[in-house]
Amino acid sequence: MTPGRAPVDRPCRLVILGGGIGGTAVARRLANDARFDITLIDRQNHFVFQPLLYQVATAALGAADIAVPIRHMLKRARNVRVLQAEVTGICTEAQRVDTDIGPVEYNRLVVATGVEPSYFGHSQWQPFAPSLKTLADAALIRERILGAFERAEAVPDPLEHARQLTFVVVGGGPTGVELAGALAELTRDTLAHDFRHIDPREARLLLVEAGPRLLPSFHESLSLSARDDLRSRGVEVRLGTRLTAITAEHVEFGEERVPAANVIWAAGVQASPLARSLTAERDPSGRVMVAPDLSVPGHPDVFVIGDLAHWRPERDSVALPGVGSVALQMGHHVARGLRDEAAGRPRRPFAYFDRGAMATIGRHHAVAEIRSLRFAGSFAWWLWLLVHLMFLAGFRNRLAVLFHWAWAYLTFERGARLIVRPAPAPLTGAPPMSSPRVTRAPSAAAPSSTPIVTRQPAAEEA
Ligand SMILES: Cc1cc2nc3c(=O)[nH]c(=O)nc-3n(C[C@H](O)[C@H](O)[C@H](O)COP(=O)(O)OP(=O)(O)OC[C@H]3O[C@@H](n4cnc5c(N)ncnc54)[C@H](O)[C@@H]3O)c2cc1C
Repeated sequence: MTPGRAPVDRPCRLVILGGGIGGTAVARRLANDARFDITLIDRQNHFVFQPLLYQVATAALGAADIAVPIRHMLKRARNVRVLQAEVTGICTEAQRVDTDIGPVEYNRLVVATGVEPSYFGHSQWQPFAPSLKTLADAALIRERILGAFERAEAVPDPLEHARQLTFVVVGGGPTGVELAGALAELTRDTLAHDFRHIDPREARLLLVEAGPRLLPSFHESLSLSARDDLRSRGVEVRLGTRLTAITAEHVEFGEERVPAANVIWAAGVQASPLARSLTAERDPSGRVMVAPDLSVPGHPDVFVIGDLAHWRPERDSVALPGVGSVALQMGHHVARGLRDEAAGRPRRPFAYFDRGAMATIGRHHAVAEIRSLRFAGSFAWWLWLLVHLMFLAGFRNRLAVLFHWAWAYLTFERGARLIVRPAPAPLTGAPPMSSPRVTRAPSAAAPSSTPIVTRQPAAEEA
């Protein structure tokens, strides 16, 4: 049991940083509790259901299908004020948060600003290998994917064809696996008959993982199932492979060089830089080591939850993973602790209930692990669909996603295939597109003479 402070004066000025899963869970649980005057601050005006971001990136869903304005989510919570602002720092001594629209004072603070992509010291790769964290990222990736097919259709040089139609996904965790599977469906089914000079089915898809297996957080049998299924869909799975360079033209794996215009980064993450504002112990990825009640040791008025928190059930166990159910349960626990405190009761330690994990590979194949139960295949896929539909925020979104999924299931079509930005600048080194007459490129999907390698980085087009 961690000591809280004496019951707070009412109303307690509670400030929540981050309107993701953790932050909104706190706000919703304390909605209309007159003892709390809540301010929730996020740099975005919307909540995103991140597990379905890859479907926006691969044109299966539109951005509005998986997001909802935070203000709308909390419109019935009369004690919650939502501010769109960038939080720039936290002063725990003054109980103040600094933002780009001015300071905000608090009595209690919840920090739920999550994580951001990490390129493991190679930030120069970022422009060529976008990561997937926000709706803007998903839109960028989608436009690059669709744009690559447009350029391949127009470019006469077969080598450039092959380069444009080579997609490298870096990182074999759930996001990388789901992206690779979705790319396989996009290229093999959806786009198969839409072009005249290229055959999208010949696109080369690479999934590169530095570790010895995909989905390392799952049981080994499920990793093997995911690997085999991806291979059967035409994805080249490279394990134990560490990227050494990413440029606008190619990716490198040690001595090997693969010309590739499209790279997606699904590898590492690091803590939100706001964690550095707190005088607290942090783990190597920057996450804050929290006390049993999720407060920051030495600062009982500050909580850290979700992806940003490092919390271990027991001293010798591993920290909880950065997944949605952890953030949700932590948010609920902090809300309960604040209520306890307001009622003069001590706060209780957090306990996590593991509901399992799942990842989808493609039509009729997913893997799921629920305690000692393990599923791979069609049943897991239907379960995945059901669970993600249930957890999606907003009735309208659930209906829209259900409709898009049903339509895609019946027709193999993907509706969100528009490129809305102006045509991208010509690629460095790409031949001119002046000659629209093109002959079909040699199979870009054929095993490459150039090998592949490494761990997580990737390469991408300019
Ligand atoms: C592509 C992808 C797929 C995923 N798939 C799954 C899955 O299938 N299952 C699963 O359980 N989990 C999945 N996750 C993980 C899950 O989404 C996270 O664990 C969860 O969202 C963490 O919640 P959080 O509240 O800690 O942070 P987030 O939900 O990330 O929210 C953080 C919020 O803080 C805001 N913010 C950050 N910094 C600032 C700042 N300085 N100022 C203002 N606002 C700021 C951000 O805009 C964001 O809204 C996935 C994540 C990603 C990226």
